[in-house]
Amino acid sequence: MPERNDGVGQALLRLRDVGKTFSNGVTALDRVNMTIRQGDFVSLLGPSGCGKSTALRLIAGLSIPTLGMLEWNRPLGDDHIGFVFQEPTLLPWASVFDNVWLPLRLRGISRKEAAAAVSELLERVHLTGFENAVPRELSGGMKMRVSIARGLVTRPRVLLMDEPFAALDEITRFKLNDDLLELWQEQRFTVIFVTHSVFESVFLSNRIVVMAARPGRVYEEVVVDASYPRDEAFRTSPEYAALCRKTSDVLMHAISATSGVSNGSR
Ligand code: ADP
Ligand code: MG
Repeated sequence: MPERNDGVGQALLRLRDVGKTFSNGVTALDRVNMTIRQGDFVSLLGPSGCGKSTALRLIAGLSIPTLGMLEWNRPLGDDHIGFVFQEPTLLPWASVFDNVWLPLRLRGISRKEAAAAVSELLERVHLTGFENAVPRELSGGMKMRVSIARGLVTRPRVLLMDEPFAALDEITRFKLNDDLLELWQEQRFTVIFVTHSVFESVFLSNRIVVMAARPGRVYEEVVVDASYPRDEAFRTSPEYAALCRKTSDVLMHAISATSGVSNGSR
C-alpha cells in the first residue's frame, strides 16, 4: 500500500504555529507546525516534557492553544475522535462488554442496539469470550485491548493514543503493536500515537514527528519508508534496524538541542 508511505492522503488536520503556554508560565509548545493526512499513522516521539501529551490534548479539543490554530479539513463531530490513554481507565465494576459499550451508551444507544458493534470490536481485539469479565480479572494487555475497543466503538476518524503500551512488557507490546496495525489497515482510521520508544515508533508509523523540549517543539520529521503490512519479518529485518538507527540519531540530536543540556550549563 504505497499511499500509506508517500502520504497522498488528503490533509485532515494542520497545526499552524501552535503554541501553548500554561498559566504558570511554562511554554509546553512553541510554534508547532504539522500536517496530519487522512490514513496517516503518525508518531510523536520525544523526551519526557517535550509537549507530546499537550499536543494530543489540543488535537482532542481538551485544551485550546494560546497561539496559532488547528485547521481541520472539515468540521469534526464529537464522535470523530477516539482517545486511548496510557492507563486503560476502565470502570472497575463494569464488565468488558459494558466498558466498551460506554461511549455509545453516553450517546443514548441501548445495550441491545450496541451489541453487534461491541461484539465485533471485541472479536477484533481478540477478547471474544471475555465479555462478562471485570477489569480485575484481566491482564494489563487485555485491559489495554478493552481500552482500544472502547476508543474505536464510535468508529472515530482519528484515534489518539498517548503512550498506550508504555506500561506493558515487551512481548505483550509487540502483540498489541501487530494487532493495532492490523486494525488500522482494515478500518482505515488515522492514528496519532505518542511514544518515547524509537523502536515502537518505527515499527508502527509512516511518519515520525521528533520533538525537542524546553520549549516543546518539532525538531524534525522522519519518513518511515517501509511498506505495510509490517510483521515479524519486518521487525527482524536490516531495513527496520537501519530505520531505527536513523530515527535514534535524530532523537539524540533533538535531546541535545534541549536548552541547558547542549551547552553544558545544566
Ligand atoms: P510529554 O507528554 O511530552 O511528557 P507534556 O505535554 O505532558 O509533555 O508537558 C510539556 C510541558 O508542559 C512539561 O514541562 C509539563 O510540566 C508542562 N505542563 C503540562 N501540563 C501542564 C499544566 N496543566 N500546567 C502547567 N504545566 C504543564
Ligand atoms: Mg505525556
